[in-house]
Amino acid sequence: MQCPLPSNDTCDHLGEILVTPQQIDQAVTRVAQEVRSTYPPDDSALALVLLEGARWFANDLFAQLAEDLFERHDFKASSYHGTTQSSGTVQTDELPCSVQNRTVLVIDDIYDTGRTLGHILDLLTQAGASEIKTCVMFEKECPHAHAIDLDFRGLTVPDRFLVGYGLDFEGNYRDLQCVGVLPQHLGSS
Ligand code: 5GP
Ligand code: MG
Repeated sequence: MQCPLPSNDTCDHLGEILVTPQQIDQAVTRVAQEVRSTYPPDDSALALVLLEGARWFANDLFAQLAEDLFERHDFKASSYHGTTQSSGTVQTDELPCSVQNRTVLVIDDIYDTGRTLGHILDLLTQAGASEIKTCVMFEKECPHAHAIDLDFRGLTVPDRFLVGYGLDFEGNYRDLQCVGVLPQHLGSS
C-alpha cells in the first residue's frame, strides 16, 4: 500500500511555489555559517531586523547563531502599504538605539528596488555607524533602482510579487514556510 506524501497545507494557498521549505532551510543554514565566520564571537555587533518582513528569516537565522553574537534590535520599516507595488516612500520608526561607532548588520526579507535598504544605510551612516553590512533572504532578479552591495544573500528569486516566509499580501501569508505567487497574481509581475 502506498503512503500518501505529507502535504504542507499552508503552501496549498499558492498558485505557484517558487521556493520550497527545504531550499529555505538550506539557504538559512548557509547564511548562518557565513555570518558566523564573518563576525568575531566577542564583538557583539548590532543586528537591525527590518520589520515586519524580516522577522521570520531573522528568527531562523538567530536560532543558528550564538546568543551573544549580536545585540538584536527590531526596527519597523515599510515601503509596501497593502499593495503589490513598492510605494516609493520608506517609512521608518526612530532608530532603536545609538549606532555611533558600532558595527551594524542590517537584516531584511527581500532586495527589490533597493529603496528600503538604501534609505536605512543612509540613516545608519548619518547616525555614525562605523561598519555596515547587509543580509537579505531573497534578492529579486530585476534591475535594482538603488544598487546595494549585499554582504549575505539567501536565494535569488524571480521578479514576481511573492508571498511567504515573511512576505505578505495585505497582512496575510507571512507564515508560509515556502515562497510563491498567489493564484490572483499569477499573470502579473
Ligand atoms: P525595496 O525597497 O527593495 O523595493 O523593497 C523592499 C521591501 O518591499 C521588502 O523589505 C518587502 O517588505 C517589500 N517587497 C519587495 N518585493 C516584495 C514582494 O515580492 N512581495 C512582498 N510581499 N513584499 C515585497
Ligand atoms: Mg520589508
